[in-house]
Amino acid sequence: MALRGNELDAWDRDHFFHPSTHMAAHARGETPNRIITGGEGVYITDRDGKRSLDAFAGLYCVNVGYGRREIADAIAAQAQKLAYYHAYVGHGSEPSIQLAKMIIDRAPAGMSRVFFGLSGSDANETNIKLVWYVNNVLGRPEKKKIISRWRGYHGSGLMTGSLTGLEVFHKAFDLPLTQVRHTEAPYYYGRQDRSQSEEQFSQACADKLEEMILAEGPETVAAFIGEPMLGTGGLVPPPSGYWEKIQAVLARYDVLLIADEVITGFGRLGSMFGSDHYGIKPDLITIAKGLTSAYAPLSGVIVSEKVWKILEKGSDALGAIGHGWTYSSHPLCTAAAVANLELVDSLGLVENARETGAYFRQSLADALAGQRIVGDVRGEGLAAAVEFSADKDDRVAFDPALKIGPRIYAATLARGVITRAMPQGDILGLAPPLCLTRDEADIVVKAVAGAVEAVSREL
Ligand code: PLP
Repeated sequence: MALRGNELDAWDRDHFFHPSTHMAAHARGETPNRIITGGEGVYITDRDGKRSLDAFAGLYCVNVGYGRREIADAIAAQAQKLAYYHAYVGHGSEPSIQLAKMIIDRAPAGMSRVFFGLSGSDANETNIKLVWYVNNVLGRPEKKKIISRWRGYHGSGLMTGSLTGLEVFHKAFDLPLTQVRHTEAPYYYGRQDRSQSEEQFSQACADKLEEMILAEGPETVAAFIGEPMLGTGGLVPPPSGYWEKIQAVLARYDVLLIADEVITGFGRLGSMFGSDHYGIKPDLITIAKGLTSAYAPLSGVIVSEKVWKILEKGSDALGAIGHGWTYSSHPLCTAAAVANLELVDSLGLVENARETGAYFRQSLADALAGQRIVGDVRGEGLAAAVEFSADKDDRVAFDPALKIGPRIYAATLARGVITRAMPQGDILGLAPPLCLTRDEADIVVKAVAGAVEAVSREL
């Protein structure tokens, strides 16, 4: 791709430290950059005027689509009225309190309070601190280890990067931290034993979790964290029976359950929460992305009444909780979230994720059915993945040097549609805005099918 050599490009190469980017290649100008200037509906536009259908909703977050006046107006009105006040020592703002109520009204049963942060990562840091605090209040200071899953994604902070079960987030960062363990991913397509049914594989995952808890000592294991459906690890819905069997193990050893709903919260799977979708009864829930559709940075921890009661006991014994961010429940962000959740309701986006999602995934599977390099097409609601395989019957992975995932991503982009080459394995991720129409779904499917066909011919 020809790179435009104007001032903005030079500043971008010389001064802008991009996340998740090959730093040296970007600085040397060896990889393309793209400067996005506008968005409307499911489309974004770059400064060269190129329009693309964003079938990944930014980073699975712009759920209501781009250019929503209602949210922009709510942010502007709040900025004029009260741009900021903190939430420490019992202070608050109108949209923050209203939002807490709206979240609890939508949350799974048994949830009681919301703590606000700015990102999914900081919300998960809060979760782990709360779990440790709870066990100290309960007089069991040894019970501190956290179990997450390989392929899980929970952020890229010190603790959350440790919880993330993708090696690229550990390498050269001295992670994971010592309190973290990783157990088997609920990745049925990648199972070793091909003869296992989904139920048998789920049981094997639960057995491995139980073995780990027993080997570590149940008195040392505090919590288990998981996304209802694996996201960045490959957009993998859980095999049948998985959550039921996992929860039975956790209950046996008094291990708290954190449902990381940063992607699945507020409609992505065609239900308001992934926990309700899969029958999960969490003690703590992480929310971010779909809470504001990324119109402003906001995350949260939804705390169950069971955990809240222990936290209250803790503050009676220890005083005010020593945890908070300057920007916790920032009024501009909570005003954006209130307007966003109102739009999710008024546009019927949860239902649309379910209905258009089913149509989209079926069309995708039909369009790719004859492709020899397609090993798996999977998903739920408006989240889907296509996994590529050198031999689909034996699920033989491609040589990573062939970069099949990135090539199919690039070929899809050349057809005007943005997807994501997932970081581990040759997996193409799709998570369009929840307002996607059937006509737009057809455009995405056509572009992906064309790209797969083209790359397949090159091999
Ligand atoms: N948890 C999950 C499930 C995520 O998908 C992400 C981000 O993709 C995070 C946590 C971290 O969120 P953030 O990037 O806002 O820190």
